[in-house]
This record gives sequence, C-alpha cells and structure tokens, in this order.
Amino acid sequence: MTGQGENEEMHFLDRYKRERDCIVSHGCSHFLREKLFLDSDNYKMCVCGECGLTAIKKKTGYSCTTCKTDAYIKEVPIPYASKLLFQELMAMNIAPRINIEGDIVV
Ligand SMILES: [Zn+2]
Repeated sequence: MTGQGENEEMHFLDRYKRERDCIVSHGCSHFLREKLFLDSDNYKMCVCGECGLTAIKKKTGYSCTTCKTDAYIKEVPIPYASKLLFQELMAMNIAPRINIEGDIVV
C-alpha cells in the first residue's frame, strides 16, 4: 500500500490489513450475517404467528394444524440448518416455537 518494503511478507500483511479494514468499515455484524446467512443457506419458513409452530403446506397455501387457520401465517427467514434442527427436534417430540413480534425485516 505504501510502497515501502519489497519482500513478500510485507505485501501479504498489507493486503490482509486492507481486507480487515474493509470488513470493519462494512460492519462486522452485517458481514457475518451476509456470509453465514444470506450467501450460504438462506431459507424462508412459514410459521404461525399465533402459536409459533411451523405451518404445513396445503393445496391452497400454508396452514397451521394446531390453530386450524391460515390467518397468522408469516414467512420467517432462517438458516436452512436451523430448519433441519427444528425438524429433528419435532421428530423427538420437542416443539420449537418461533415467536413473531412486529414485522419481519429481511
Ligand atoms: Zn398456530
């Protein structure tokens, strides 16, 4: 960056200092969200806003089998690995619930 030093190690360190500064300026939380969620396994799961359980797909759309209605169904962005974890827990009779408060911002 500064043009000082001609050895390989100096250029290597300068390049990573610049990348580190870019990540810090972009915001570490945004960077991690972008790389670990949006760019990798972004998934939208339909959840009942009343009981928090996963909605089931029917011919006409999604519906909650517990509440017997589709009035409270909302799409929630979660990592696909979380969706798989929820399904594994439901197979073991553990019901994970997603509490939805307000609007969901993607
Ligand atoms: Zn429900």
